[in-house]
Amino acid sequence: MDDGHDLLPGRDILGLSALQSIPEIVWTHGDDLCNCTFQRIGEWTNPYLARTLRVRVCCIEAQLYKEYPQFVQEIPGYYDENTDEFRVKPQVWNADHDIPKHIWHRQMAVMEGITLDQARKLAEHVPPPPPVPKADEKAIAVMAKQGANRMSSLVVATS
Ligand SMILES: [Zn+2]
Repeated sequence: MDDGHDLLPGRDILGLSALQSIPEIVWTHGDDLCNCTFQRIGEWTNPYLARTLRVRVCCIEAQLYKEYPQFVQEIPGYYDENTDEFRVKPQVWNADHDIPKHIWHRQMAVMEGITLDQARKLAEHVPPPPPVPKADEKAIAVMAKQGANRMSSLVVATS
């Protein structure tokens, strides 16, 4: 592949006529169309050019990570700046809206130690957890336990 500077006006860099037609699927952040832990979609568009460049940056970076593993730290924990420690268990969803599907699937995969594809299948049988108010720590602990128990039984049932 060249340096990409001749993308306009419509060079077919992927052999898919990518710039010759309007794609049916719009890539957006959180579309859950790839298995990257952190989805990142880049988009540049300009009405004066009638062109849009949309890039699954996360997937391209994943390929780079394979090429340069010595420069990558994939850490199984969330760094909590308040406690200066890594938390290795996912936090219960406590926002004021429902958990986005892509976060739900990835959280379930981490909690159950399963693949993302397995989590997506499991999600067909398990409703996402309802949001828990941040102040209700006791409820969070109870729901986390119930959620773990509920999903553990489903993991066994669907495996
Ligand atoms: Zn990706």
